[in-house]
Amino acid sequence: MRDRKPALSGLSLQDLQSALKDVPPYRGRQIFQWISRGVPSFQSMTDIPLSLRASLDRQYSLYSSSISAHLDDPDGTVKLQILLYDQERIESVLLSDGADRRTACLSAQAGCPMACVFCKTGTRGFSRNLTAGEIVEQFLYLRSFGGAIANIVIMGMGEPLLNLPELRKALAILTDPEGAGLSKRRITISTSGIVQGIRELADAGPDVRLAVSLTTADPELRERLMPVTKANPLSELKDALLYYQRRQGQRITLETVLLGGVNTREKDLQSLAQFTQGLEAIVNVIPWNPVEEVSFEGKPLREPFRNEIERFKGALEKLGLKVTQRFRKGRCVAGACGQLADFRGGESAG
Ligand code: SAH
Ligand code: SF4
Repeated sequence: MRDRKPALSGLSLQDLQSALKDVPPYRGRQIFQWISRGVPSFQSMTDIPLSLRASLDRQYSLYSSSISAHLDDPDGTVKLQILLYDQERIESVLLSDGADRRTACLSAQAGCPMACVFCKTGTRGFSRNLTAGEIVEQFLYLRSFGGAIANIVIMGMGEPLLNLPELRKALAILTDPEGAGLSKRRITISTSGIVQGIRELADAGPDVRLAVSLTTADPELRERLMPVTKANPLSELKDALLYYQRRQGQRITLETVLLGGVNTREKDLQSLAQFTQGLEAIVNVIPWNPVEEVSFEGKPLREPFRNEIERFKGALEKLGLKVTQRFRKGRCVAGACGQLADFRGGESAG
């Protein structure tokens, strides 16, 4: 294993200043700013005295992880595989809309414990929570490949609300005006529906945007597709979302992965319409991206047909719901939703 000097990337400005006891606070601020710019080494911190750079280098590292692979999709998507200090691997994706709006899709955990049946990450199992530094580093690495980033979505690997303390720290660093200075309104956390976590978010922030992977609001089907439903029943999820909305006042996105022939029934439409009552919500329809390894109760899953998607969206709109559809990017690098688990060179040729 590589040497394990403590890394500075996961420290807030204040924590950095207190960690560097013998360094005046203004130097701490300079160092914080250098790290937010993603410099490769202490040596690059040109306004820090050479002796201090050398002494920092002896005691600390800037980052705890490293980029172990990188794939470019012809559509502008960049997928990075990141190697963590303990040899775990995670993935992060930079989505580009062709103009200048880039969105960083960050992971919150190595693997995921939620085991949603349609998701590749879910089939891989869970290794551990990421540290704040490991979350910040994903952002810095993606920016070093693609330039300015307008939005962050916590929609990579893992369930973010099971790692709220470290995620909070990371987002505080990324939104610090002294650092990357991202706007909270441009950050979205996506959860599979952890009731306790949604309430904590409502009570203690951060007041970023919230997306919930609902998939269906039919309790019986949802429990079979998303085991999280057992301990977090839909009625409690709805109460938590109403509470969140009272406290935060923000519109919630309800993501629904469309699984061909599975959750496109009349019952799914009706239950979704009922679930959204009283909520200020928008439904984001995500056609399922194929994942070879997964099956649902012994049967393969299939992508929804184009007319199935259109009919579903149209019917939701008729029921008075606001609907959007997620664009599919990064399919060739397997960086699309739910396909994060490992690198498969074959897909990069796509
Ligand atoms: N764990 C969090 C965030 C990461 S998953 C969550 O579940 O919300 C990000 C989104 O991808 C979720 O809305 C999830 O439902 C969706 N997803 C998972 N597998 C998918 C697949 N194979 N195709 C399309 N979307 C998928
Ligand atoms: Fe985990 Fe989200 Fe995949 Fe479910 S959809 S297994 S919560 S990453």
